[in-house]
Amino acid sequence: MTGSLRPDDLARFDRHNVWHAFTQMQEYEPLLIERGEGCWLVDTQGNRYLDGSASMWCNVHGHRHPRLDAALVAQAGRVAHTTNLGLSNPTTVEFARRLVEVAPPGLEKVFFSSDGSSAIEAALKMAFQYWLQADPPRAGRGRFVAIGEAYHGDTLGAIGVGGVDRFTAMFAPLTFEAIRLPSPGGPCPHTGRPAPALDESLAALDRILAEHARSVAAIIMEPLVQMAAGVYVHPPGFLRGVADLARRHDVLLILDEVATGFGRTGTMFACEQENVSPDFLCLAKGLTAGYLPMAATLTTDRIWNAFLGSHADRRTFFHGHTYGGNPLAAAVGIASLDVFRDEQVLESLPSKISRLREHAARLSALAHVGDVRQCGLVAGLDLVADKDTGTAYSWQEKRGTHACLAARKHGAMLRQLGDTVVIMPPLSITLEEIDLLAAAAEAGIREATK
Ligand code: PMP
Repeated sequence: MTGSLRPDDLARFDRHNVWHAFTQMQEYEPLLIERGEGCWLVDTQGNRYLDGSASMWCNVHGHRHPRLDAALVAQAGRVAHTTNLGLSNPTTVEFARRLVEVAPPGLEKVFFSSDGSSAIEAALKMAFQYWLQADPPRAGRGRFVAIGEAYHGDTLGAIGVGGVDRFTAMFAPLTFEAIRLPSPGGPCPHTGRPAPALDESLAALDRILAEHARSVAAIIMEPLVQMAAGVYVHPPGFLRGVADLARRHDVLLILDEVATGFGRTGTMFACEQENVSPDFLCLAKGLTAGYLPMAATLTTDRIWNAFLGSHADRRTFFHGHTYGGNPLAAAVGIASLDVFRDEQVLESLPSKISRLREHAARLSALAHVGDVRQCGLVAGLDLVADKDTGTAYSWQEKRGTHACLAARKHGAMLRQLGDTVVIMPPLSITLEEIDLLAAAAEAGIREATK
Protein backbone atom coordinates (compact mmCIF):
# COMPACT_ATOMS: atom_id res chain seq x y z
CA MET A 1 0.00 0.00 0.00
CA THR A 2 1.17 3.51 -0.75
CA GLY A 3 -0.29 5.29 2.25
CA SER A 4 -1.63 4.51 5.67
CA LEU A 5 -5.34 4.27 4.80
CA ARG A 6 -7.17 0.94 5.16
CA PRO A 7 -9.13 -0.42 2.17
CA ASP A 8 -12.48 0.46 3.82
CA ASP A 9 -11.41 4.04 4.40
CA LEU A 10 -10.05 4.32 0.89
CA ALA A 11 -13.38 3.18 -0.54
CA ARG A 12 -15.26 5.65 1.66
CA PHE A 13 -13.03 8.57 0.73
CA ASP A 14 -13.15 7.54 -2.91
CA ARG A 15 -16.93 7.89 -2.81
CA HIS A 16 -16.86 11.15 -0.87
CA ASN A 17 -13.87 13.07 -2.15
CA VAL A 18 -13.09 11.93 -5.66
CA TRP A 19 -15.35 13.10 -8.51
CA HIS A 20 -14.89 10.43 -11.16
CA ALA A 21 -15.00 11.13 -14.88
CA PHE A 22 -18.09 10.05 -16.84
CA THR A 23 -19.52 8.60 -13.63
CA GLN A 24 -22.81 9.13 -11.82
CA MET A 25 -21.39 9.54 -8.33
CA GLN A 26 -24.70 8.67 -6.67
CA GLU A 27 -24.42 5.18 -8.11
CA TYR A 28 -20.65 4.80 -8.01
CA GLU A 29 -19.28 1.62 -6.40
CA PRO A 30 -15.59 2.02 -5.55
CA LEU A 31 -13.08 -0.38 -7.00
CA LEU A 32 -9.47 0.57 -6.37
CA ILE A 33 -6.69 -0.77 -8.52
CA GLU A 34 -3.53 -0.90 -6.49
CA ARG A 35 -1.08 -2.24 -9.02
CA GLY A 36 -0.60 -3.66 -12.48
CA GLU A 37 1.47 -6.47 -13.94
CA GLY A 38 1.63 -6.79 -17.71
CA CYS A 39 -1.96 -6.91 -18.94
CA TRP A 40 -3.31 -7.52 -15.44
CA LEU A 41 -4.72 -5.12 -12.87
CA VAL A 42 -4.82 -6.02 -9.19
CA ASP A 43 -7.28 -4.36 -6.80
CA THR A 44 -6.80 -3.53 -3.12
CA GLN A 45 -8.45 -6.84 -2.21
CA GLY A 46 -5.97 -8.76 -4.33
CA ASN A 47 -8.44 -9.61 -7.13
CA ARG A 48 -6.90 -9.80 -10.60
CA TYR A 49 -8.47 -8.53 -13.82
CA LEU A 50 -7.29 -8.53 -17.39
CA ASP A 51 -7.10 -4.93 -18.55
CA GLY A 52 -9.63 -5.22 -21.37
CA SER A 53 -9.88 -1.48 -21.95
CA ALA A 54 -6.11 -0.84 -21.92
CA SER A 55 -6.77 1.50 -18.97
CA MET A 56 -9.00 3.73 -21.10
CA TRP A 57 -7.47 2.88 -24.47
CA CYS A 58 -3.97 4.05 -23.70
CA ASN A 59 -1.87 1.20 -22.34
CA VAL A 60 0.30 -0.30 -25.07
CA HIS A 61 3.04 -2.57 -23.70
CA GLY A 62 1.37 -3.63 -20.44
CA HIS A 63 1.77 -2.23 -16.96
CA ARG A 64 5.17 -1.93 -15.31
CA HIS A 65 7.16 -2.70 -18.40
CA PRO A 66 10.75 -2.83 -17.12
CA ARG A 67 12.16 -0.62 -19.88
CA LEU A 68 9.50 2.05 -19.47
CA ASP A 69 9.88 1.99 -15.69
CA ALA A 70 13.64 2.31 -16.00
CA ALA A 71 13.36 5.25 -18.43
CA LEU A 72 11.02 7.02 -16.04
CA VAL A 73 13.30 6.51 -13.05
CA ALA A 74 16.39 7.56 -15.01
CA GLN A 75 14.73 10.79 -16.11
CA ALA A 76 13.51 11.47 -12.57
CA GLY A 77 17.18 11.28 -11.58
CA ARG A 78 17.90 14.17 -13.94
CA VAL A 79 14.88 16.45 -13.77
CA ALA A 80 11.13 15.81 -13.56
CA HIS A 81 9.92 18.89 -15.34
CA THR A 82 11.21 21.90 -17.21
CA THR A 83 9.02 24.28 -19.19
CA ASN A 84 8.94 24.28 -22.97
CA LEU A 85 7.83 27.90 -23.11
CA GLY A 86 10.89 29.32 -24.82
CA LEU A 87 13.16 26.66 -23.32
CA SER A 88 14.02 23.05 -24.04
CA ASN A 89 15.17 19.76 -22.63
CA PRO A 90 17.36 17.09 -24.29
CA THR A 91 14.84 14.30 -23.66
CA THR A 92 11.96 16.26 -25.15
CA VAL A 93 13.99 17.17 -28.22
CA GLU A 94 15.00 13.56 -28.75
CA PHE A 95 11.39 12.44 -28.42
CA ALA A 96 10.20 15.01 -30.96
CA ARG A 97 12.85 13.77 -33.38
CA ARG A 98 11.86 10.14 -32.85
CA LEU A 99 8.20 10.99 -33.42
CA VAL A 100 9.00 12.73 -36.69
CA GLU A 101 10.87 9.60 -37.79
CA VAL A 102 7.86 7.32 -37.27
CA ALA A 103 5.16 9.79 -38.35
CA PRO A 104 3.75 9.91 -41.89
CA PRO A 105 5.91 11.97 -44.26
CA GLY A 106 5.80 15.74 -44.08
CA LEU A 107 4.95 16.02 -40.38
CA GLU A 108 8.15 17.52 -39.01
CA LYS A 109 6.92 20.01 -36.43
CA VAL A 110 5.81 18.77 -33.01
CA PHE A 111 3.75 20.83 -30.60
CA PHE A 112 3.54 19.12 -27.21
CA SER A 113 0.61 19.45 -24.82
CA SER A 114 -0.89 17.33 -22.08
CA ASP A 115 -3.82 15.17 -23.21
CA GLY A 116 -5.90 14.28 -26.21
CA SER A 117 -8.29 17.19 -25.87
CA SER A 118 -5.45 19.67 -25.68
CA ALA A 119 -3.83 18.18 -28.80
CA ILE A 120 -7.14 18.79 -30.59
CA GLU A 121 -7.52 22.33 -29.25
CA ALA A 122 -4.03 23.18 -30.49
CA ALA A 123 -4.80 21.79 -33.95
CA LEU A 124 -8.10 23.70 -34.20
CA LYS A 125 -6.50 26.96 -33.16
CA MET A 126 -3.44 26.48 -35.38
CA ALA A 127 -5.68 25.74 -38.37
CA PHE A 128 -7.75 28.84 -37.72
CA GLN A 129 -4.72 31.08 -37.19
CA TYR A 130 -2.97 29.61 -40.23
CA TRP A 131 -5.56 31.05 -42.63
CA LEU A 132 -5.27 34.50 -41.03
CA GLN A 133 -1.53 34.42 -41.66
CA ALA A 134 -1.45 32.52 -44.96
CA ASP A 135 -0.12 34.17 -48.08
CA PRO A 136 -2.48 35.73 -49.09
CA PRO A 137 -4.39 35.82 -45.77
CA ARG A 138 -7.86 34.36 -45.85
CA ALA A 139 -9.98 35.71 -43.04
CA GLY A 140 -13.38 34.21 -42.41
CA ARG A 141 -12.20 30.61 -42.25
CA GLY A 142 -13.62 30.00 -38.82
CA ARG A 143 -15.64 26.84 -39.33
CA PHE A 144 -14.80 23.16 -39.11
CA VAL A 145 -16.26 20.13 -40.83
CA ALA A 146 -16.58 17.14 -38.51
CA ILE A 147 -18.01 13.66 -38.78
CA GLY A 148 -21.31 12.67 -37.19
CA GLU A 149 -20.94 10.98 -33.78
CA ALA A 150 -17.28 12.05 -33.68
CA TYR A 151 -15.51 12.31 -30.35
CA HIS A 152 -12.48 14.53 -29.95
CA GLY A 153 -12.41 15.19 -26.20
CA ASP A 154 -14.30 17.17 -23.61
CA THR A 155 -12.89 20.68 -23.70
CA LEU A 156 -15.08 23.28 -25.37
CA GLY A 157 -13.37 23.38 -28.77
CA ALA A 158 -13.21 19.59 -28.85
CA ILE A 159 -16.92 19.26 -28.12
CA GLY A 160 -17.63 21.86 -30.81
CA VAL A 161 -16.33 19.35 -33.34
CA GLY A 162 -17.60 16.35 -31.35
CA GLY A 163 -20.91 14.76 -32.15
CA VAL A 164 -21.72 12.23 -29.45
CA ASP A 165 -24.80 14.14 -28.39
CA ARG A 166 -25.42 12.17 -25.22
CA PHE A 167 -22.18 13.59 -23.86
CA THR A 168 -22.21 17.09 -25.25
CA ALA A 169 -25.65 18.35 -26.33
CA MET A 170 -26.22 20.42 -23.19
CA PHE A 171 -22.99 22.34 -23.69
CA ALA A 172 -23.86 23.44 -27.22
CA PRO A 173 -24.52 27.05 -26.15
CA LEU A 174 -20.94 27.30 -24.86
CA THR A 175 -19.18 26.33 -28.05
CA PHE A 176 -19.32 26.63 -31.85
CA GLU A 177 -21.23 24.45 -34.24
CA ALA A 178 -19.34 22.32 -36.72
CA ILE A 179 -20.66 21.48 -40.17
CA ARG A 180 -21.54 17.84 -39.79
CA LEU A 181 -20.95 15.05 -42.29
CA PRO A 182 -22.97 11.91 -41.44
CA SER A 183 -20.64 9.07 -40.44
CA PRO A 184 -20.29 6.20 -42.89
CA GLY A 185 -19.37 3.96 -39.94
CA GLY A 186 -21.93 2.11 -37.92
CA PRO A 187 -24.75 1.23 -38.34
CA CYS A 188 -25.62 3.42 -35.44
CA PRO A 189 -27.07 1.47 -32.52
CA HIS A 190 -27.90 4.68 -30.69
CA THR A 191 -29.90 6.51 -33.35
CA GLY A 192 -31.01 3.48 -35.36
CA ARG A 193 -30.15 5.36 -38.57
CA PRO A 194 -28.42 3.26 -41.21
CA ALA A 195 -24.99 4.54 -42.15
CA PRO A 196 -24.66 6.26 -45.52
CA ALA A 197 -22.67 4.39 -48.14
CA LEU A 198 -19.13 5.45 -49.00
CA ASP A 199 -20.03 7.17 -52.27
CA GLU A 200 -22.96 8.95 -50.73
CA SER A 201 -20.83 10.16 -47.86
CA LEU A 202 -18.02 11.49 -50.04
CA ALA A 203 -20.52 13.12 -52.41
CA ALA A 204 -22.07 14.86 -49.38
CA LEU A 205 -18.64 16.12 -48.31
CA ASP A 206 -17.95 17.36 -51.83
CA ARG A 207 -21.22 19.34 -51.75
CA ILE A 208 -20.45 20.75 -48.28
CA LEU A 209 -17.00 21.88 -49.37
CA ALA A 210 -18.23 23.29 -52.67
CA GLU A 211 -20.64 25.44 -50.71
CA HIS A 212 -18.62 26.29 -47.61
CA ALA A 213 -14.89 25.81 -48.30
CA ARG A 214 -14.17 29.52 -48.12
CA SER A 215 -15.46 29.67 -44.56
CA VAL A 216 -13.91 26.35 -43.44
CA ALA A 217 -10.53 26.11 -41.72
CA ALA A 218 -10.27 22.33 -41.60
CA ILE A 219 -11.93 18.93 -41.68
CA ILE A 220 -11.33 16.92 -38.54
CA MET A 221 -11.79 13.18 -38.24
CA GLU A 222 -10.69 10.00 -36.51
CA PRO A 223 -9.15 7.85 -39.26
CA LEU A 224 -10.53 4.33 -39.96
CA VAL A 225 -12.53 3.96 -36.75
CA GLN A 226 -14.55 6.32 -34.58
CA MET A 227 -13.90 4.87 -31.19
CA ALA A 228 -16.14 6.64 -28.67
CA ALA A 229 -19.05 6.69 -31.13
CA GLY A 230 -19.22 2.93 -30.53
CA VAL A 231 -16.28 1.55 -32.55
CA TYR A 232 -17.71 2.72 -35.89
CA VAL A 233 -15.50 1.33 -38.58
CA HIS A 234 -15.38 3.37 -41.78
CA PRO A 235 -15.57 1.67 -45.15
CA PRO A 236 -12.18 1.33 -46.86
CA GLY A 237 -11.45 4.38 -48.97
CA PHE A 238 -13.30 6.88 -46.79
CA LEU A 239 -10.17 8.42 -45.28
CA ARG A 240 -8.46 8.58 -48.69
CA GLY A 241 -11.60 10.13 -50.18
CA VAL A 242 -11.83 12.77 -47.44
CA ALA A 243 -8.13 13.62 -47.80
CA ASP A 244 -8.48 14.01 -51.57
CA LEU A 245 -11.52 16.26 -51.21
CA ALA A 246 -9.76 18.36 -48.56
CA ARG A 247 -6.86 18.89 -50.92
CA ARG A 248 -9.10 19.62 -53.91
CA HIS A 249 -11.06 22.26 -51.98
CA ASP A 250 -7.96 23.61 -50.22
CA VAL A 251 -9.19 22.87 -46.73
CA LEU A 252 -6.80 21.58 -44.04
CA LEU A 253 -7.09 18.03 -42.69
CA ILE A 254 -6.78 17.29 -38.97
CA LEU A 255 -6.50 13.61 -38.08
CA ASP A 256 -7.28 12.66 -34.51
CA GLU A 257 -5.19 9.57 -33.78
CA VAL A 258 -5.53 9.94 -30.03
CA ALA A 259 -7.24 6.54 -29.86
CA THR A 260 -6.02 4.92 -33.09
CA GLY A 261 -2.35 5.90 -32.88
CA PHE A 262 0.47 3.63 -31.73
CA GLY A 263 -0.55 0.33 -33.22
CA ARG A 264 -4.22 0.03 -32.28
CA THR A 265 -5.42 -0.50 -35.85
CA GLY A 266 -2.51 -2.78 -36.79
CA THR A 267 -0.14 -0.12 -38.12
CA MET A 268 1.72 2.53 -36.12
CA PHE A 269 -0.81 5.14 -37.29
CA ALA A 270 -4.19 4.39 -38.84
CA CYS A 271 -3.69 6.93 -41.63
CA GLU A 272 -0.80 4.88 -43.04
CA GLN A 273 -3.32 2.28 -44.17
CA GLU A 274 -4.76 4.66 -46.74
CA ASN A 275 -1.51 6.46 -47.44
CA VAL A 276 -2.70 9.75 -46.02
CA SER A 277 -0.47 12.43 -44.51
CA PRO A 278 -2.63 15.07 -42.86
CA ASP A 279 -1.88 18.71 -42.14
CA PHE A 280 -2.23 17.98 -38.43
CA LEU A 281 -1.84 14.68 -36.60
CA CYS A 282 -3.11 14.67 -33.00
CA LEU A 283 -1.57 12.11 -30.65
CA ALA A 284 -2.00 11.31 -26.96
CA LYS A 285 -2.93 8.15 -24.98
CA GLY A 286 -0.43 5.63 -26.44
CA LEU A 287 2.15 8.38 -26.98
CA THR A 288 3.61 7.47 -23.59
CA ALA A 289 2.35 3.87 -23.80
CA GLY A 290 -0.31 4.88 -21.29
CA TYR A 291 2.13 5.91 -18.57
CA LEU A 292 1.90 9.68 -18.32
CA PRO A 293 -0.26 12.49 -19.64
CA MET A 294 1.31 13.87 -22.77
CA ALA A 295 -0.01 14.81 -26.19
CA ALA A 296 1.41 16.07 -29.44
CA THR A 297 0.07 17.94 -32.45
CA LEU A 298 2.30 17.26 -35.43
CA THR A 299 2.18 19.54 -38.43
CA THR A 300 3.94 20.52 -41.65
CA ASP A 301 6.33 23.19 -42.95
CA ARG A 302 3.42 24.88 -44.70
CA ILE A 303 1.68 25.55 -41.38
CA TRP A 304 4.86 26.30 -39.43
CA ASN A 305 6.07 28.84 -41.97
CA ALA A 306 2.87 30.85 -41.68
CA PHE A 307 3.66 31.41 -38.00
CA LEU A 308 7.20 32.73 -38.56
CA GLY A 309 8.05 36.41 -38.30
CA SER A 310 9.45 38.88 -35.85
CA HIS A 311 7.83 39.37 -32.45
CA ALA A 312 6.27 42.55 -33.79
CA ASP A 313 4.58 40.64 -36.61
CA ARG A 314 2.34 38.96 -34.00
CA ARG A 315 2.32 35.65 -35.82
CA THR A 316 3.32 33.63 -32.74
CA PHE A 317 1.10 30.76 -31.62
CA PHE A 318 0.03 32.14 -28.26
CA HIS A 319 -0.99 28.85 -26.76
CA GLY A 320 0.66 26.46 -24.33
CA HIS A 321 0.22 24.06 -21.46
CA THR A 322 2.39 24.01 -18.37
CA TYR A 323 3.35 20.37 -18.76
CA GLY A 324 3.65 20.33 -22.55
CA GLY A 325 6.84 18.45 -23.45
CA ASN A 326 7.29 17.13 -19.93
CA PRO A 327 10.61 15.22 -19.88
CA LEU A 328 9.38 12.32 -17.70
CA ALA A 329 6.65 11.65 -20.25
CA ALA A 330 9.09 12.17 -23.13
CA ALA A 331 11.55 9.68 -21.61
CA VAL A 332 8.82 7.05 -21.42
CA GLY A 333 7.70 7.93 -24.95
CA ILE A 334 11.20 7.30 -26.29
CA ALA A 335 11.41 4.01 -24.40
CA SER A 336 8.03 3.02 -25.82
CA LEU A 337 9.24 3.58 -29.39
CA ASP A 338 12.30 1.47 -28.53
CA VAL A 339 10.00 -1.30 -27.31
CA PHE A 340 7.93 -1.07 -30.50
CA ARG A 341 11.13 -1.61 -32.47
CA ASP A 342 12.99 -4.13 -30.28
CA GLU A 343 10.03 -6.29 -29.33
CA GLN A 344 8.58 -6.17 -32.85
CA VAL A 345 5.24 -5.07 -31.48
CA LEU A 346 3.61 -4.26 -34.82
CA GLU A 347 4.81 -7.56 -36.28
CA SER A 348 3.16 -9.41 -33.37
CA LEU A 349 -0.27 -7.91 -34.04
CA PRO A 350 -1.73 -9.89 -36.99
CA SER A 351 -2.13 -13.12 -34.99
CA LYS A 352 -3.70 -11.23 -32.06
CA ILE A 353 -6.05 -9.38 -34.37
CA SER A 354 -7.20 -12.62 -35.98
CA ARG A 355 -7.66 -14.27 -32.59
CA LEU A 356 -9.85 -11.36 -31.52
CA ARG A 357 -11.73 -11.67 -34.84
CA GLU A 358 -12.42 -15.37 -34.19
CA HIS A 359 -13.82 -14.56 -30.76
CA ALA A 360 -15.86 -11.63 -32.06
CA ALA A 361 -17.40 -13.91 -34.69
CA ARG A 362 -18.24 -16.49 -32.03
CA LEU A 363 -19.74 -13.87 -29.70
CA SER A 364 -21.81 -12.44 -32.54
CA ALA A 365 -23.80 -15.69 -32.44
CA LEU A 366 -25.03 -14.94 -28.89
CA ALA A 367 -28.78 -14.35 -28.65
CA HIS A 368 -28.47 -10.68 -27.72
CA VAL A 369 -25.40 -9.61 -29.62
CA GLY A 370 -26.30 -7.60 -32.72
CA ASP A 371 -23.74 -5.86 -34.85
CA VAL A 372 -20.07 -6.59 -34.14
CA ARG A 373 -17.34 -4.30 -35.49
CA GLN A 374 -13.58 -4.66 -35.34
CA CYS A 375 -10.61 -2.65 -36.49
CA GLY A 376 -7.19 -3.99 -35.58
CA LEU A 377 -7.04 -4.84 -31.89
CA VAL A 378 -10.35 -3.32 -30.89
CA ALA A 379 -13.83 -4.79 -31.16
CA GLY A 380 -17.25 -3.41 -30.29
CA LEU A 381 -20.22 -5.70 -29.68
CA ASP A 382 -23.71 -4.20 -29.66
CA LEU A 383 -26.13 -5.68 -27.17
CA VAL A 384 -29.66 -5.70 -28.57
CA ALA A 385 -33.09 -6.60 -27.18
CA ASP A 386 -34.12 -8.30 -30.40
CA LYS A 387 -31.51 -9.58 -32.74
CA ASP A 388 -33.82 -10.19 -35.69
CA THR A 389 -35.21 -6.70 -35.78
CA GLY A 390 -32.06 -5.04 -34.38
CA THR A 391 -34.18 -3.43 -31.65
CA ALA A 392 -31.99 -1.75 -29.04
CA TYR A 393 -32.51 -2.13 -25.30
CA SER A 394 -33.87 0.98 -23.66
CA TRP A 395 -30.79 2.94 -22.57
CA GLN A 396 -32.09 3.20 -19.00
CA GLU A 397 -31.53 -0.55 -18.59
CA LYS A 398 -27.75 -0.02 -18.88
CA ARG A 399 -27.20 -3.50 -20.30
CA GLY A 400 -23.72 -2.60 -21.53
CA THR A 401 -22.71 -1.42 -18.06
CA HIS A 402 -24.14 -4.57 -16.48
CA ALA A 403 -22.28 -6.79 -18.93
CA CYS A 404 -18.97 -5.11 -18.09
CA LEU A 405 -19.62 -5.23 -14.34
CA ALA A 406 -20.50 -8.91 -14.62
CA ALA A 407 -17.31 -9.57 -16.61
CA ARG A 408 -15.29 -8.37 -13.61
CA LYS A 409 -16.43 -11.44 -11.69
CA HIS A 410 -14.86 -13.48 -14.47
CA GLY A 411 -11.55 -11.64 -14.29
CA ALA A 412 -11.83 -8.94 -16.96
CA MET A 413 -11.99 -5.20 -16.71
CA LEU A 414 -14.03 -4.01 -19.69
CA ARG A 415 -15.67 -0.74 -20.51
CA GLN A 416 -18.84 -0.15 -22.46
CA LEU A 417 -19.95 2.65 -24.74
CA GLY A 418 -23.69 2.70 -24.09
CA ASP A 419 -24.82 -0.81 -25.00
CA THR A 420 -21.68 -1.54 -26.96
CA VAL A 421 -19.20 -3.74 -25.09
CA VAL A 422 -15.68 -2.76 -26.13
CA ILE A 423 -12.71 -5.11 -26.08
CA MET A 424 -9.51 -3.10 -26.37
CA PRO A 425 -6.55 -4.71 -24.56
CA PRO A 426 -2.93 -3.54 -24.44
CA LEU A 427 -1.06 -4.56 -27.60
CA SER A 428 1.17 -6.76 -25.46
CA ILE A 429 -1.68 -9.14 -24.61
CA THR A 430 -0.97 -12.80 -25.39
CA LEU A 431 -3.22 -15.10 -27.41
CA GLU A 432 -4.13 -17.03 -24.23
CA GLU A 433 -5.04 -13.78 -22.50
CA ILE A 434 -7.25 -12.81 -25.45
CA ASP A 435 -9.05 -16.14 -24.95
CA LEU A 436 -9.57 -15.33 -21.25
CA LEU A 437 -10.77 -11.84 -22.05
CA ALA A 438 -13.27 -13.10 -24.61
CA ALA A 439 -14.53 -15.77 -22.23
CA ALA A 440 -15.09 -13.16 -19.51
CA ALA A 441 -16.81 -10.84 -21.98
CA GLU A 442 -19.06 -13.70 -23.05
CA ALA A 443 -19.95 -14.56 -19.46
CA GLY A 444 -20.70 -10.90 -18.71
CA ILE A 445 -22.85 -10.50 -21.81
CA ARG A 446 -24.79 -13.69 -21.11
CA GLU A 447 -25.45 -12.61 -17.55
CA ALA A 448 -26.56 -9.08 -18.49
CA THR A 449 -28.86 -10.22 -21.30
CA LYS A 450 -30.56 -13.27 -19.83
N1 PMP B 1 -9.84 12.04 -29.36
C1 PMP B 1 -10.19 10.76 -29.33
C2 PMP B 1 -10.38 10.00 -30.60
C3 PMP B 1 -10.37 10.10 -28.10
O1 PMP B 1 -10.75 8.83 -28.06
C4 PMP B 1 -10.14 10.85 -26.91
C5 PMP B 1 -10.29 10.24 -25.54
N2 PMP B 1 -10.99 9.08 -25.42
C6 PMP B 1 -9.79 12.20 -27.01
C7 PMP B 1 -9.63 12.76 -28.26
C8 PMP B 1 -9.56 13.04 -25.79
O2 PMP B 1 -8.42 12.63 -25.13
P1 PMP B 1 -8.21 13.00 -23.59
O3 PMP B 1 -9.24 12.21 -22.83
O4 PMP B 1 -6.83 12.55 -23.30
O5 PMP B 1 -8.41 14.46 -23.45
